[in-house]
Amino acid sequence: MNRSTIWHPFTQHALEPPMARIASTDGAYLIDEAGDRILDAISSWWVITHGHRHPKIMAAIRDATEAYDQIIFAEFSHAPAERLAEGLLEFAPPGLKHVFYSDSGSTAVEVAVKMALGYFHNRHELRDRVVVIEGSYHGDTIGTMSMGDRGVFNAAYEPLLFGVDRLPFPEAVSGQETLYRFEGLCRTGRVAALLIEPLVLGAGGMRIYEAGVLAALKGIAERNGCLLIADEVMTGWGRTGTMFASEQAGITPDILCTSKGLTGGAVPLAATLATAEIFEAHLSTDRRKTFFHSSSYTANPIACAAAVANLDIWRNEPVLGRIRGIETAHRRNLARYSADARFAHVRQAGTIAALNLVVPEDGYLAEVGPRMRRLFRERGLLIRPLGNVLYLMPPYCVTSQEIDDAYEAIDEVASLVLKDAA
Ligand code: PMP
Repeated sequence: MNRSTIWHPFTQHALEPPMARIASTDGAYLIDEAGDRILDAISSWWVITHGHRHPKIMAAIRDATEAYDQIIFAEFSHAPAERLAEGLLEFAPPGLKHVFYSDSGSTAVEVAVKMALGYFHNRHELRDRVVVIEGSYHGDTIGTMSMGDRGVFNAAYEPLLFGVDRLPFPEAVSGQETLYRFEGLCRTGRVAALLIEPLVLGAGGMRIYEAGVLAALKGIAERNGCLLIADEVMTGWGRTGTMFASEQAGITPDILCTSKGLTGGAVPLAATLATAEIFEAHLSTDRRKTFFHSSSYTANPIACAAAVANLDIWRNEPVLGRIRGIETAHRRNLARYSADARFAHVRQAGTIAALNLVVPEDGYLAEVGPRMRRLFRERGLLIRPLGNVLYLMPPYCVTSQEIDDAYEAIDEVASLVLKDAA
């Protein structure tokens, strides 16, 4: 049994071989100590956008270390955080006016929910319910687990998790049932916010819904005086084909959470963006209305400098062109799987492509997941199926040929797994 000193995330050490050591990264590849190159077809848990070690981001980090390390972010500010805040508001949906920094996707979401509750508390309005979509994932802290899907991941912690209201996933194009249920909850007058992953539920199985449903949900929220929090931690930075997925619904969320690709994925950083109304509800000579949140590494200057460089890449390089190339390559490959009985729910949102392997046993713990993962690794690919859900989410420097090769591997691995299952 592998009694690893390091306790790796989402890893059952009793079933996994010792971890292969990565010696370096390069573009779309991880390179192990033996010199073998592994195509990072999931962007290292969805963080790497342009490619590993983009030279401009690495240079910005090196430069920042000449001047900064961590600086306390109460009482002081610094140029990288300010330049980044200005840039973020330029790129974000119009109407977001304030930027709060933290250091991971989970904290960005926690901050968002605290902002929403604080907004109503400071206005003396009794609104204390959070509404989410069934099957969502928002992080692994107690708060974000409470708001995410319940299941094997969090069964042990259930006694500590708080209750939220859940809307059915909008399966139908119109999302009618979801909208109807949201209207109903809003009528109680107690809903503070709808927390939602725009267009794609990521860890919940890459489930995709229509932009029109998101727009309609925002309309209902607005009419009923509750806030919409967009968790763009996974969908941001081009993954769904636009800078932020909310753009495709033509909406500005009241609060937007971003992390992962914010620094191009190079170093950890997160930001929660809010409207002027939400900031102003916390603005008072009464200290009790302060937004009481901080973390030690808030607005780390080196991370902010990396994110500023990321924005420059978006301004100066044909990032959307690269994204269009990935979309085309996915479409071409997925076309041949739509009528293939081995797969169901063949789907795509921008650079994210997913398909379900048709097996008797599905769900996250399905044994086919780890089996396929090992077979992909033998073929030089990092692909981590979510149970029987296969997906690709490559960094934008990937070539069409590399995408075609990944689909070839999917074809081969699926046949191997199904043959054994038969
Ligand atoms: N929200 C979403 C939509 C995510 O996909 C994730 C991470 N996969 C998180 C929040 C949590 O981010 P982190 O792991 O950086 O805390």
